[in-house]
Amino acid sequence: ALSGELSQAALEALRGGLRGRLLHPGQEGYDAARAVWNGMIDRQPGAIVRCADVADVMTAVRTAHEHGVRLAVRGGGHSASGLALCDGGLVIDLSAMHGVRVDPAARTVTAEGGCTLGDVDHATHAFGLATPFGIISTSGVGGLSLGGGSGYLTRHYGLTIDNLLAADVVLADGRFVTASAETHPDLFWALRGGGGNFGVVTAFHFRCHPVHHVMAGPVLYDLADTGAVLRWYRDFLPSAPEELYGFFMVGTVPPAPPFPEALHGRHVCGIVWVYSGDREDADAALAPVREFGSPLLDGIHEVPFPALQSVFDPLYPPGLHSYWRGDFFTEITDEAIAVHERFAEVPTPLSTMHLYPIDGAAHRVGRDETAFHYREATWSAVIVGIDPDPANADRVRDWVVRYWEALHPSSAGGAYVNFMMEEGHDRVRATYGENYARLARLKARYDPDNLFRHNHNIPPADP
Ligand code: FAD
Repeated sequence: ALSGELSQAALEALRGGLRGRLLHPGQEGYDAARAVWNGMIDRQPGAIVRCADVADVMTAVRTAHEHGVRLAVRGGGHSASGLALCDGGLVIDLSAMHGVRVDPAARTVTAEGGCTLGDVDHATHAFGLATPFGIISTSGVGGLSLGGGSGYLTRHYGLTIDNLLAADVVLADGRFVTASAETHPDLFWALRGGGGNFGVVTAFHFRCHPVHHVMAGPVLYDLADTGAVLRWYRDFLPSAPEELYGFFMVGTVPPAPPFPEALHGRHVCGIVWVYSGDREDADAALAPVREFGSPLLDGIHEVPFPALQSVFDPLYPPGLHSYWRGDFFTEITDEAIAVHERFAEVPTPLSTMHLYPIDGAAHRVGRDETAFHYREATWSAVIVGIDPDPANADRVRDWVVRYWEALHPSSAGGAYVNFMMEEGHDRVRATYGENYARLARLKARYDPDNLFRHNHNIPPADP
């Protein structure tokens, strides 16, 4: 078992072998390095190592392994439950490892483990390419990819993991391997959905697709239309072309351009659309959207793909207090729609509920082909309570939990691992379903001491 704390001997081993900075409590830069996206998280690691390269990661992992030091791994720091940090122990901070290399001829991109989505989008866009990621450009490629990765290109090109070709990994004993369909295929399978359980990924190698400018934007409706919009949306989208993607949301119109002043602060529901196919086919694909209902705003226009990917960044800066719950849904039932209508009025202006489609190309991968289990689910819901003021935390959390409890009976059972707080082992098990036993066996092989445990943890199976 790990004693957890950093001993003098461990510190010396680290100091001798690092090129990056080692940050201690009280030192300049330490507090900034332990701040994560969710302002509710306040953890005090014994030290933070800002790795400069793969050698630093190997040194840090080997030291933690040999000296029994509690270890957390930080990618983009976006995990709502603060899994990037531990109290005491050591944090491997990958944020300085954010190099990206595009191979335009092969249509691939290699991204270091500490990249944000924006780092990669910026680099690939120059070549008219993109790989499927999430909807906020400041999220980490690390955590997002290892959990699955859903976003604007999911219907057209699959989950992020469906585009992963290989990963460089530092294993629990400090060894470096490359996992792909050819080398360490078991590890490659586990990495595609199994979260940070299996090692530190120092580089991801992704397939890219020709995506440059897209037709995209929100179409907003009166909150009272929530039921009608949801009924139309669930019937329309699954049979729409896969190039068309739209996530449903409830929330509040931000008090800023490009939204017209008359709508500022108004409670609304809506769908954020993107058409990522050929421009000349966009109008036909969007025609049913334009024919439906009486929107308050039709904000669809042509934008560079990275502009779409970062359009919500200013709304969700780091430091806000946030509480989340999610679930997968194979269908949006009438009962579920009644629940959405009941809870659609958000408790604070930044709180929201999103329903992300995960069908199309993501459905063409079998449930046992990657660790990501819920392949037949059509939607992934997340209920997000957010406010800058911690005094509202209880009220916000109460809305999230009551909404989730009412909705959960119509869910497929488990949740997208990246939308979970620390909700207990049963929830992690439900997320992986029939893939859980294989994951636990692979955990026993690759990380028998459970060094990588600050994640939605899969403890090693008993031998
Ligand atoms: P971190 O907190 O740094 O890490 C999360 C977990 O992954 C930790 O256990 C960490 O140890 C591990 N980890 C991170 N990097 C590595 C690595 N290189 N090697 C090994 N382990 C690693 N998800 C979507 O799929 N689609 C979305 O559209 C989306 N939108 C979001 C919007 C916001 C505002 C936020 C806050 C989150 C969103 N998410 C979305 C969820 C997101 O996928 C998770 O928060 C994810 O954990 C982010 O990864 P990270 O590297 O930033 O997080």
